[in-house]
Amino acid sequence: MTARISGLGIPKALTYRNKRIRESARDEECLVRLPGICMHGTAATIWSHYRGSAGGKGGALKSDDLCGAYACTACDAAYDGQQPPPAGMTYADVVAAWHEGHIRSIVRLHAKGVI
Ligand SMILES: [Zn+2]
Repeated sequence: MTARISGLGIPKALTYRNKRIRESARDEECLVRLPGICMHGTAATIWSHYRGSAGGKGGALKSDDLCGAYACTACDAAYDGQQPPPAGMTYADVVAAWHEGHIRSIVRLHAKGVI
């Protein structure tokens, strides 16, 4: 589905939203698993959205809900740049770990029948 960007006539894909995906983070474990900072367990897991424009992110608009990962708030904060990478890791390492977590999360969503 597409819409027109106001005034420019340029087609823009509408952002995909799926409340079932976002809410499915409840009772899930973090799948990003950054060593040294990950909270593990299920208490602090959220649906962490991809930060790049390839996922539909623009300005304050979050990426499509398919472009996410089960992440604890500590791993999400490192991915978001709100806290530094864990000791011995670069930000690129954090991004790679987030992408691994994204793939694990997509597989998990399918296994649960959410997608
Ligand atoms: Zn974590």
